[in-house]
Amino acid sequence: METRIKGVEAVLPPPPTHMVGDGFKVHNFFPSLSIIGDYGMSPFFLLDYNSKWILPPSERPRGVGVHPHRGIETVTLAYHGRIAHHDSAGNSGVIGEGDVQWMTAGGAVLHKEYHEKEFSKTGGLFQMVQLWINLPGKFKMTPAKYQAIENAQMAKYISEDGKSHIDLIAGEYKGLKGPAFSFSPVNLFNARLKSGAVADFSFSRDFNTAILIIEGEIKVNGSQVVPADHLAYFNHEGEEFLVEALNDSIVLIMSGEPLNEPVAAYGPFVMNTDEEIRQTYNDYYSGKFGYLED
Ligand code: MN
Repeated sequence: METRIKGVEAVLPPPPTHMVGDGFKVHNFFPSLSIIGDYGMSPFFLLDYNSKWILPPSERPRGVGVHPHRGIETVTLAYHGRIAHHDSAGNSGVIGEGDVQWMTAGGAVLHKEYHEKEFSKTGGLFQMVQLWINLPGKFKMTPAKYQAIENAQMAKYISEDGKSHIDLIAGEYKGLKGPAFSFSPVNLFNARLKSGAVADFSFSRDFNTAILIIEGEIKVNGSQVVPADHLAYFNHEGEEFLVEALNDSIVLIMSGEPLNEPVAAYGPFVMNTDEEIRQTYNDYYSGKFGYLED
């Protein structure tokens, strides 16, 4: 099949923020924006973006207390500041700039997510992303697990002119492979681009694809300008697109194969049917998610 350009379907400005717990002030790009909804970025189900926020110092680390998940993976990316995680599977970790926490909730997990203690005490610039990646039906009840992916562990592509640095978290780029295990095909990269850099990307036309501008400003396919904190959502008409940095930029690249399964989502649970959601609440209220100290 001949290669064709994947065009931009829409450039979406950041929606108004809401608080997640008392520590995360996020723009939800999906599923709340109707152009994307529950299916438009499958297998990615949710994108919460905490754009740059100066945190005042706090002795008590702010964040989200103990809460459950089932049916998804939560993937947290830190750009500024430090984030701590503890879960009922016994896993915990702290991430800082450029690092990623990839938690598979699977059938049941309780976790809590906070600003790391020392970062909380000093306060400062905070910027992060949380993605929820939906699990295929046959893997929704897989055991919970946790992948700590430090920046140094990521595969790194550097262009010949040295202007493009691509950190691979998951998936493949120019023969390199990211370290994260995923249950369905997912590409997740941070592109760190010097002003004037041009990086090319190619994903199957069936894949759902979007890019979030974390820093700077870019131009897609030589025509479409996408400013900081905006999401460019791609159509399905081709495979390849070009990203040109108009300033020094950081761009989060997301592309994955859609699951093509029904979605029944309620709060922190993402299943295939309403009956499975009811069962999940029964399991949660009867203590089948384990225990985690607050
Ligand atoms: Mn959570």
